[in-house]
Amino acid sequence: MGCRIEDAAEPQKLDYTGGSRLPKRQSPCYAGRAMKCPHCSVAIHSGLQRHSQIVEASLGLPGGGTSYEGVWNIYQQRCPECGQTIILLERTTPYSTGRVESFMAYPRRCTRPVPAEVPDPYRQDYVEACSVLGDSPKASAALSRRNLQAVLRDKAGTKSKDLFDQIEEVISSGRVPSHIAEGLHAVRNIGNFAAHTIKSTTTGAIVDVEPGEAEWNLDVLDSLFDFYFVSPPFPQSAKQSSTRSSRTPGSLRSRNGIPRPLPLIPLPF
Ligand SMILES: [Zn+2]
Repeated sequence: MGCRIEDAAEPQKLDYTGGSRLPKRQSPCYAGRAMKCPHCSVAIHSGLQRHSQIVEASLGLPGGGTSYEGVWNIYQQRCPECGQTIILLERTTPYSTGRVESFMAYPRRCTRPVPAEVPDPYRQDYVEACSVLGDSPKASAALSRRNLQAVLRDKAGTKSKDLFDQIEEVISSGRVPSHIAEGLHAVRNIGNFAAHTIKSTTTGAIVDVEPGEAEWNLDVLDSLFDFYFVSPPFPQSAKQSSTRSSRTPGSLRSRNGIPRPLPLIPLPF
């Protein structure tokens, strides 16, 4: 079984939306034009360019089975802020039901600063969610979901046991800024993809968590940490606090009823 390596005559810009393969789950990681550098965490313009690709006669699919042809695309860009190289691998297959995956090849670990005011166990879960992001967006998303539940229970004072109801409590109370409230259910939804086997209603394929989604969960937690630990609101000025400026995980647009993050992602990175 052979394979061939093809260099791109000229680097091709990554224009991956995943739309034709995963129509209901456009990759938030690259669909936009912004991402977070996995080296320095600064938001940068996504300028990933394909430098070469490896074409194989067959390729095992992430969910099992084999495609008649598989392609590994190799993308690279240099962060304009820190100057370090980012390398992304993307695996595509034109003949399957549309499975595609992409992951950060370098760096293998992303680093995201955590404010000193954030205590354990929230800090510990957050750091762990970052550390596994490159290898398992699914594990990262599950940790973020757990972290969200803990923060809402301990800091927002929610009484419900179910995360959905906790989020509804917080939203109906009006005690959190609207841009944070919009992201809470998205974290829960993405975490559900991590915790349960969910199949696409279109293709029947198992829907995995994409790196950009897992990273965006961390962005939402950033905002929550900022709100509850770094600049906690005064109880008596709850209404005022709900309108104050705070870090935002990005613009939120509807994605099949799920608030969709602007990919200040990184992706996978
Ligand atoms: Zn950088």
